[in-house]
Amino acid sequence: MTLLVTGGAGFIGSNFVLDWLAHSAEPIVNLDKLTYAGNLQNLASLQGDARHTFVHGDIGDRELLGRLLAQHRPRAVLHFAAESHVDRSIHGPEDFIDTNVLGTFRLLEAARQYWQALEAPEKEAFRFLHVSTDEVYGSLDADAPAFTEQHRYEPNSPYSASKAASDHLVRAWHHTYGLPVLTTNCSNNYGPYHFPEKLIPLCIHNALAGKPLPIYGDGRQIRDWLYVQDHCSAIRRVLAAGRVGETYNVGGWNEKTNLEVVQTLCAILDELAPRADGQSYAQQITFVQDRPGHDRRYAIDASKLERELGWKPAETFESGIRKTVQWYLAHQDWVRGVTSGAYRQWIDLQYADANADTH
Ligand code: NAD
Repeated sequence: MTLLVTGGAGFIGSNFVLDWLAHSAEPIVNLDKLTYAGNLQNLASLQGDARHTFVHGDIGDRELLGRLLAQHRPRAVLHFAAESHVDRSIHGPEDFIDTNVLGTFRLLEAARQYWQALEAPEKEAFRFLHVSTDEVYGSLDADAPAFTEQHRYEPNSPYSASKAASDHLVRAWHHTYGLPVLTTNCSNNYGPYHFPEKLIPLCIHNALAGKPLPIYGDGRQIRDWLYVQDHCSAIRRVLAAGRVGETYNVGGWNEKTNLEVVQTLCAILDELAPRADGQSYAQQITFVQDRPGHDRRYAIDASKLERELGWKPAETFESGIRKTVQWYLAHQDWVRGVTSGAYRQWIDLQYADANADTH
């Protein structure tokens, strides 16, 4: 049996691939376009591991999808691939529509045709697991209860609108065609291999480089934070036992303001990698003009996943954020590679001896 993972060279996807192969002998075919956010260096430890087949390609490529499904005959598609950065979606929304909406549509169609041609017992066992975000629910008032799966969709950014559209397509492919789908809507992830355009890795990187730690507006926007490996364990659990057609919210019960997150990072860095002048990294915090349409609060109620499938996060925010800082301090070569563009050259090098599927 095999899993087809899309976007498995990105932040969450690569953590998932590593995590899966650490727990299971079941192979993964990893389809990724290697946009700026895809980084094969994340998967360097799998070099030579026959359980991992990397395929360089686009989820919008019908012919490639048909060929991969026919060749590898996966028992599930796990769909991580997306354009994922809200700020980029504001400056250039088109890629978000192409990949998150049209790409998801093409993947659903390919999966539907493949699934419809399967026979029992493979047909009953097949799953299409769609990885999505809590941002589809929009912004919460300060005292409102956290998002449940029943909360209405109110996406506010081009990113969240494109993810909401993809969630609706997934739902429709189940209701209309019977495709056995599962959807997860998760809160903000953090942890190893996070591209340094997002708040936590950006602040660790800038702090160590002596640069300003930029905080939008007043820094009081609230997000729920989940350590990426807890998201991976939730996806494993939903794949194993989730009810077909259902949506599961995934979150850490860790509501923090952006300012609190950055102050916590500064305190851990002060302890683990003190500045040469003995001052706190908090001195580098700089407030910048707020993002247009910035949602004030997201909070996720993950009790359905906990109650029905017995999932619980292993990390608290305090333990996860400390692990994250320790990982970045120990992997400065990875950060330098990502920020210098050297990983692009590394990718070109990989193509030279990549397996037959890579093109
Ligand atoms: P990411 O931007 O780090 O990675 C996305 C990956 O998808 C990259 O490897 C990229 O090369 C690949 N990709 C992009 N377009 C593609 C295409 N057309 N065809 C094939 N591959 C393509 O994103 P991430 O943070 O790892 O997020 C993964 C998924 O999880 C996304 O669907 C995102 O919406 C969702 N999600 C993210 C978070 C978060 O906090 N990061 C939270 C909840 C849900």
